[in-house]
Amino acid sequence: MSGPVCALCGTPAPAPFRAPQPEIAPDLDMRPGEPARSTLRDWIAVCRTCGAAAPDLAALPEAARPVVASDEYRMLSTTVLEETLPFRRWALICERTGDSAQRAEALLQAAWAADDAAAMTEASRLRTEVATLWDGTTDTELGLRRLDVLRRAGQFDAAAAWAAELGQRGPDELARTIIGFQTARIAERDVGRHLISAALPPPAHTPHVAHNKRATTGFWSRLLRK
Ligand SMILES: [Zn+2]
Repeated sequence: MSGPVCALCGTPAPAPFRAPQPEIAPDLDMRPGEPARSTLRDWIAVCRTCGAAAPDLAALPEAARPVVASDEYRMLSTTVLEETLPFRRWALICERTGDSAQRAEALLQAAWAADDAAAMTEASRLRTEVATLWDGTTDTELGLRRLDVLRRAGQFDAAAAWAAELGQRGPDELARTIIGFQTARIAERDVGRHLISAALPPPAHTPHVAHNKRATTGFWSRLLRK
């Protein structure tokens, strides 16, 4: 019998975690709704032998080996909030192997883990890093997520400026609605989490958003394409 093994050391590794389908709308930064939301800690596996951290240990590239062996990687366990450690390790691997898109997602997941641990300063700091990585993005969805990330980091001036920039790009109706919702929250100095469904017009416009069991992380994209 042979199952997946860690690509770096050959230790048996779990298969990549598959979160259950969300039944509730995601947050504005695309953290999925329950029941997927509360499985966050299972998204990154950590190899019990070599300490590698990744969504799929069997798929780690050879370039991850020196990263996992580095002092910087090992020192993370003494310098970052424990709940965020797997995500920070995976983010460092992504950084050193040149995958900045995955790195940003890993750091945002670390911010969610910090949220869950009520470590608001750490969550805010991590969001600031994500916002920097997404600075200047021309991708509509990433641009809207960056707006939420800036607001929740308490970077209200930067958030207001980014909202203005997004507004000048000729957003479609849905994006305009979300930008308007965020602008009102920014004016209130609100750093709280909000569901996408809270930002959208009344249900006639978006039927079944909250109850559609097929709604997944892709539904933002589908909404944006409507
Ligand atoms: Zn390993």
